[in-house]
Amino acid sequence: MTYKITVRGLVQGVGFRPFIYLLAKDMGLRGTVSNSNNGVEIVVELIGLEKDIFIGRIKKEHPQAAEIHSIEIEETEETELDYGDFSIVRSASRSDEITQVAPDIAVCDDCLADRRLQTHRKNYPFINCTHCGPRFSIIRDLPYDRCRTTMADFRMCAACEKEFTDPADRRFHAQPVACNSCGPQYYIDNEENTYEEVLAKSVSAINAGKVVAIRGIGGYHLVCDAANDKAVRQLRKIKDRDTKPFAVMFANLEAMQDYVLVNEEETRNISNWRRPIVLLKTRENPAYSCSEQVNPGMKTLGCMLPYMPIHYDWFEHLQTPVIVMTSGNLNDRPIIISPEEARNELGGRADLLIHHNRPVHNRVDDSVVQVCGGQACIVRRSRGYVPEPLFTEVETEGILAFGAEKVNTFALGKGSTIIQSQYIGDLKNEETFAFYAEAMQRFCNLFRFKPRMLVCDLHPDYLSSLHAEKIAKENGLQLIRVQHHYAHAAACMLEYGLREPVLAVIWDGIGLGDDGAAWGGEFFLCDGRNYRRLAHPDYVTMPGGDRASLEPWRMAAAWLKHYDIPLPQRFTERIGKEKIAQINSMLEKNINCPLTSSIGRLFDAAASLSGVCDFTSRQAEAAILLEQIANLDCRSSYSIDSESNPISFRPLFEEIIEDLQQNVPASRISAKFHNMLIDLILSKTLQFSKQYGINKIVISGGCFQNKFLVEGLQKRFAETPLTLFVPSRIPCNDSGIAAGQLFIAANKKLISTQ
Ligand code: ZN
Ligand code: ZN
Ligand code: FE
Repeated sequence: MTYKITVRGLVQGVGFRPFIYLLAKDMGLRGTVSNSNNGVEIVVELIGLEKDIFIGRIKKEHPQAAEIHSIEIEETEETELDYGDFSIVRSASRSDEITQVAPDIAVCDDCLADRRLQTHRKNYPFINCTHCGPRFSIIRDLPYDRCRTTMADFRMCAACEKEFTDPADRRFHAQPVACNSCGPQYYIDNEENTYEEVLAKSVSAINAGKVVAIRGIGGYHLVCDAANDKAVRQLRKIKDRDTKPFAVMFANLEAMQDYVLVNEEETRNISNWRRPIVLLKTRENPAYSCSEQVNPGMKTLGCMLPYMPIHYDWFEHLQTPVIVMTSGNLNDRPIIISPEEARNELGGRADLLIHHNRPVHNRVDDSVVQVCGGQACIVRRSRGYVPEPLFTEVETEGILAFGAEKVNTFALGKGSTIIQSQYIGDLKNEETFAFYAEAMQRFCNLFRFKPRMLVCDLHPDYLSSLHAEKIAKENGLQLIRVQHHYAHAAACMLEYGLREPVLAVIWDGIGLGDDGAAWGGEFFLCDGRNYRRLAHPDYVTMPGGDRASLEPWRMAAAWLKHYDIPLPQRFTERIGKEKIAQINSMLEKNINCPLTSSIGRLFDAAASLSGVCDFTSRQAEAAILLEQIANLDCRSSYSIDSESNPISFRPLFEEIIEDLQQNVPASRISAKFHNMLIDLILSKTLQFSKQYGINKIVISGGCFQNKFLVEGLQKRFAETPLTLFVPSRIPCNDSGIAAGQLFIAANKKLISTQ
């Protein structure tokens, strides 16, 4: 029998055709394999059991970076095909084009071995093959061929060319293939060096407590010995960053396990080909110490494993098993990608500047993942994930979603897939906004995307909304606005393919609501087309507006005033009578006091009252610190008033004040606060579930980056008839907004064309 097998998913540019070729050879099959419009097409003769074995082996043995979405098998008449055995051919329908863009892939074990074995790649730091190496970061245009990547200027040598054209070789059609004599090289700023010199100098600099800036896959990193307090302090000074934690890289899993706790799912994530940063819990008594300056006040640490050959080489020579690896940027600007910029920005600051000559076309930061209850939740989606598409069941073609404003991403619709951009950042930063506009243009070009319908946040002042408006006007396109928290809910519905109505709990910082207030503590009944707000917390004022989110004490004062509860003495002493009087007069005169239902701001109030954090330098810091100190063994909770709507937090604040008077430690107050929130979600969703006959519960919004909260919910929901859906592949923070917006626009478009 001859079969035509179509494999869809992430199967181009990841070594899938050579894999099929070798598999077929191994099984002694006759046929062909080619790239097709939407995947890989195999035409093959299979007899009896061979069919199941062949498909089984494809599913089981495929290259690490391939993601199979579907395998379609049909019998075909093409028995007269002109093949003797098995070959990789150009597709009949189109050319042999690779029209998918794979994410960047960490160097594979086979390549690491080749660096010892192959003479032309002895210790070569940019070794790669069809299973590994840079992809998205170097792609300028499609189809994916070397001439349309930043490898275009490197002419393959004869040895590389031979491998590139041999279907049995692991480097067959590996577009970035390179070796010592023909490929990219590292060099120290204003010097000409051998790799051995670059390695030796960088190692001795790190050993000596210096800060090294080095060009990586998606941009520059700043690197130093994580155990060296002085070096880490120096790095903080360079980045002008006070307390925000740095990510670290460990030599290997063993060295990591000596310092942090790593469970099975975390190990799987941290060591897979995407090589993200994984947020892990530090051990109580680690085998060695990192500088406290790495993650001040935190019990978690962002950890990763080596993913470029030079990382491995470093750890062979470094005295330390752990280094800080942080994005090479200043003041929240985008990560630096060019040597010129690195020289200008980092030149006088870092002690050593290392470049390489393979340009970064698409900027990608390290991605960040957190595992909650055995489920990997992406916090920042960039290197190793982008631009992998999400498959949906709705037609998305032509829809462009502009996202939120902070931790922004955008997304575009192709066919029935959604392609999310890499992590962009805070658009209020001028350079970051330029990156946003440029990346959007590049995605449109790369994916041959022509926008036909635009979608943005309801907030008219978000820079993303203004950009959407401008493009809509210039091109005469329809622009849809979607409420922020509904977009959060939609992102989670999209991820799990939920088309039916669900109950959504969206707890967040701030997003503009339909009534003009700042929402962020919402219970919705929704589907892909509409939503209804079922419940939300009492509205309170945010004294000073945006300022309140950087000064949590303001929210504490506002909540207590709301319930006419006197401020605790210690709080007043800490903050000072004058400041409090100022706020009170603001509240009384109602000047710059927008209303909010945000749970993020409730976290702020609790963090300030418990003495954890009165002032912050960045969004959500108070909530993070409050989570960090929570006593995990504490089972008690503050009371909830589950009958009231809007939800009253009077019992909560009364009981916190009582606890403060009894000198209950902050760790216990924090735990009781978290447990109260879990109780509240449970009681409300159970109530609504009965009322509306819906048992699917979606959670999203920035508050659910809180592991205590999510794991608590996972445990409690497991005991109920309700099913909880936790955002995993689309971030629950504002990076997931664009995908949600796009999903809603696609559903609304369906209505309008019906
Ligand atoms: Zn490889
Ligand atoms: Zn070569
Ligand atoms: Fe949000």
